Amino acid sequence: MGFLKNLFSGTPAKPEKRYFVFNVKCSRCGEIIEGRVDLDNDLSVEYENDHDVYFARKGLMGSGRCFQQIEVELKFDSSRQLLEQQVTGGQFSSLQSTNLQ
Ligand SMILES: [Zn+2]
Repeated sequence: MGFLKNLFSGTPAKPEKRYFVFNVKCSRCGEIIEGRVDLDNDLSVEYENDHDVYFARKGLMGSGRCFQQIEVELKFDSSRQLLEQQVTGGQFSSLQSTNLQ
């Protein structure tokens, strides 16, 4: 049974997860806060102008003493391309789509 055990003891390959990763800069203290949207689980679908659009909303807070709440809204099309982004309480410093294993 040693042979079989070796065959099946490897970690199974996980399906690739798609994330949209962004950094926002707090408008109060200037801290850069990283946020991440799970493109498979965090999106809510809405129907708009004859096609589906996908929304993600995130509330972020810095790790320091600043209690500024930063609200991020992202809108994607059906192929998960970013259409619009909005942030209140800060500003975007980077936006990117990444595949994580
Ligand atoms: Zn802050």
